[in-house]
Amino acid sequence: MDAIKKSIGVSHHKEKENNKPPKPEPPKPAKLKVVIESPPVCFIRKPALSTGAIFTGLLKVTVTEPGVVFDTFDLQFLCTEKAKKPVANHCPECSLKTSEMKKWTVLAAPKPLAPGEHDFPFSWHIPGHLPATTHGHLVDLDYHLFAEAKTSKGDIITITEPVLIRRAIQQPESKESNRNFPPTNILGVMTMDNTIYPMQTEIDLQLRIKNVVTHKENAMSRWALRKVIWRIEETEQYVSPACPKHSDKLGGTGKGIQHEHVKCIGDGVMNKGWKSDFSLEDSSIEMEITAGLDAAIKSACDVEATNGLRVKHHVVIECVINEEWAPDHKPKHIASTGAARILKTTFGVVLTDRAGMNISWDEEAPPVYQDVPPSPPLYAEAPEYDLKDLEGELENMGIGSDPSSVAGPSGTAGSSNAP
Ligand SMILES: [Zn+2]
Repeated sequence: MDAIKKSIGVSHHKEKENNKPPKPEPPKPAKLKVVIESPPVCFIRKPALSTGAIFTGLLKVTVTEPGVVFDTFDLQFLCTEKAKKPVANHCPECSLKTSEMKKWTVLAAPKPLAPGEHDFPFSWHIPGHLPATTHGHLVDLDYHLFAEAKTSKGDIITITEPVLIRRAIQQPESKESNRNFPPTNILGVMTMDNTIYPMQTEIDLQLRIKNVVTHKENAMSRWALRKVIWRIEETEQYVSPACPKHSDKLGGTGKGIQHEHVKCIGDGVMNKGWKSDFSLEDSSIEMEITAGLDAAIKSACDVEATNGLRVKHHVVIECVINEEWAPDHKPKHIASTGAARILKTTFGVVLTDRAGMNISWDEEAPPVYQDVPPSPPLYAEAPEYDLKDLEGELENMGIGSDPSSVAGPSGTAGSSNAP
């Protein structure tokens, strides 16, 4: 009882402290404001193929006092990675990694600015291989602009402006995938859209299970469908980086710990609603499955980045089938043999943002007059290629290949809790 009273006392005390009005900060001699002028950043296509985005804006400085001299004045585009499973728990440096992607020197030397408003335009071609803003189970990856001005009198004026980067991966509309299920002759044919979008609650899949009837030893045997279970899985991988102090623990700088997390972001069961054709020549079971993302579960878009962050999605289908049997002379006397199987199959699918009105900046701008070369290119000077020589090179170009295999993550050594 004493302990409870004490703790209540402490909390009251704390509340009183918290209710104190915060100390008013001395007024700063200048105010900063960021105005982003370019449209919301949306990379089009996969990291290896994306041309990035043009990012432009204005840093507005309002000087409120006369005689203000700026010693340093910089603007940075920063990327933060907040590891949810840091290498050392409670270590702020292991938990939060900040990387400078771009820096602008707003004012180079100690420079006075007169009272009033001053605009400093900035622009950057953001490379398209950078990972989009991602809020996952293992990491929150965010971008922001950070400006800091230091005056000769020691005032420090800062501003932080978050920048959301999205990616829209464009893919062919739908694809057909075939799967075999040895030792049976069964062939599964699945048709679905390659791409799904955040919050999409209706995803249509067509599944056809072929060759379900076989004939042997004066009897017909067939597989009947009992149940279909579907789910959409999200697999997130991330290498939690170690700060310099804790990297010794992993055997050197630049090392990290690889983590993997799999979660279900939508699932369902079907007990009926399919069409079975048990004719020997063309036996099949056909169905339409309406899958979808669970609106109550947070999902992340597909990501593939050189820092080891990777988010991928799969549709998993499990069909429970039972074997039935009927002798040739009594084809209507169908009996279960007691044998059952689960046909499990997995299809990769891309979860990505919708491009909406966004098109890639390089497709948007028509060539201006100055871009047109003064004369036609001289074809005679072009070297001739033998097709045979080219084939090898084309394979080596690696377009669409895994970008992490080119640049490599900063460190993937250390222990792993991957299943
Ligand atoms: Zn640390």
